[in-house]
Amino acid sequence: MIKPGVDVRGIQPEILLARIIAGEIFARYGVACIITSALDGKHSKNSKHYTGQAIDLRTRHMDARLWPVVAEELNKALGPQYDVVLESDHIHVEHDPK
Ligand SMILES: [Zn+2]
Repeated sequence: MIKPGVDVRGIQPEILLARIIAGEIFARYGVACIITSALDGKHSKNSKHYTGQAIDLRTRHMDARLWPVVAEELNKALGPQYDVVLESDHIHVEHDPK
């Protein structure tokens, strides 16, 4: 799912792939995987959101105890080419090959 108003124009295939995998993980916990930001919104100056290499995923619809669990599972599933960051109100996922 995509939150109304989110701009996904220019999203990169690597992030689409991450969203597919995230969907599988969220589904294990019976919750929807909702994109709350892609190329829209305000982010830090050099944010990968602006190049379509990052998305934010909603967390507020699930138990707060699950947030770090889901973030860690996603981090493991995506591997070293991605960064997964649990923020206060979302999970930030970016493609960042080293
Ligand atoms: Zn973000």
